[in-house]
Amino acid sequence: MQDDISPVDFSCRSLAAQAMGRIDPVTRAVVMPLHVATTFIRDPDNGYSSGYSYARPDNATVREAEAVIAMLEGAQAGAMLFGSGMAAATAVFGALEPGDHVVAGTVMYWALKRWLRTEMPRRGITVDFVATDDLDALRAAIRPGQTKLVWIETPGNPLWTVTDIAAAAEIARSAGARLAVDSTAASPFHTRPLDLGADIVMHSATKILNGHSDVVAGVLAAAKADGFWERIAGIRAGSGGILGPFEAYLLMRSLRTFHLRAAAQSAGAMRLALALRGHPHVARILYPGLDDDPGYAVAARQMRDGFGFMLSIRVAGGEAAAIGTAARVRLWKRATSLGGVESLIEHRASVEGPDSPCPPDLLRLSTGIEDPVDLYRDLDAALRGAHGD
Ligand SMILES: *Cc1c(COP(=O)(O)O)cnc(C)c1O
Repeated sequence: MQDDISPVDFSCRSLAAQAMGRIDPVTRAVVMPLHVATTFIRDPDNGYSSGYSYARPDNATVREAEAVIAMLEGAQAGAMLFGSGMAAATAVFGALEPGDHVVAGTVMYWALKRWLRTEMPRRGITVDFVATDDLDALRAAIRPGQTKLVWIETPGNPLWTVTDIAAAAEIARSAGARLAVDSTAASPFHTRPLDLGADIVMHSATKILNGHSDVVAGVLAAAKADGFWERIAGIRAGSGGILGPFEAYLLMRSLRTFHLRAAAQSAGAMRLALALRGHPHVARILYPGLDDDPGYAVAARQMRDGFGFMLSIRVAGGEAAAIGTAARVRLWKRATSLGGVESLIEHRASVEGPDSPCPPDLLRLSTGIEDPVDLYRDLDAALRGAHGD
């Protein structure tokens, strides 16, 4: 039989490479067709035997990509794709009730933090931000009976602090709360939060899952199909947050090479971090793969096959030298976002504003698939230029 490859028999890498081995039953094509229809024929008996009726709640091409991501995350309840990472994340918070309490990390995606600060009070939901890499601080922030959600991001953007997922899951569970993990920077290549006890994992699929800087998408995957997950599905269907079929098709195309890209990008990041150690113009490297990083011990436990494609450096000459370095690179691209095959550099404090934990001398580096030797030489020349060497 060529139509099905069993998830039991083969690894994630093999299953993703073949997009779950699905074959189009009509043409026998090895690539599934792109479904763009917004509406579907009703059966004479008034039912919808195909399972599809209208494209806002559901789409067959979106389901293909969701199946691959659910497999990568080991998500028993499946995955749901959204029009952006923010749409996915905000759907989780949207499923909470007035009066609920949330604990979230101080180091997290800045636009989501800003959204939580403005939108959650309007819905009668209180959010406390704590350093979730400090488990005592996390434990102390929980209000038993009232805290319904713990939201962590690990490694956390843009300082790449590491939170112990298994410990956070235990703290959340013992208080009757759910744990959701923004795992965008780790990706399922390095970490599977659901295996470690998390209830929901979220990704900006705009980043390394798609990896080609040409799709904005977000995804949630869940361990359990409970009432909370159903409510999130209702929010996606009702608010029209589903990903478009063209984007889902592009995302699935990218997922076929996900393992190759993630391996190359994390190996490149590690080489850069090691090469930058001791650089005269780098005051500090923030990368959980370095054995003197405060997050190393936990990262070594919960990340496998490397530590991800993201690192930051603090430039010795301060903010002006950091901006000057970003101004001088040629191979690195001076742009926001992360996870693409092209390497990006960004002066993050310029984006995040005054209430961010990001220091002004920090440059965020997203490692692509270029030759790491070229990436180092380009960055080294820019650092030297910015310091007047
Ligand atoms: C980019 C990003 C988001 C938001 O995703 P969008 O796809 O831009 O909406 C959330 N979390 C992290 C860690 C991100 O990097």
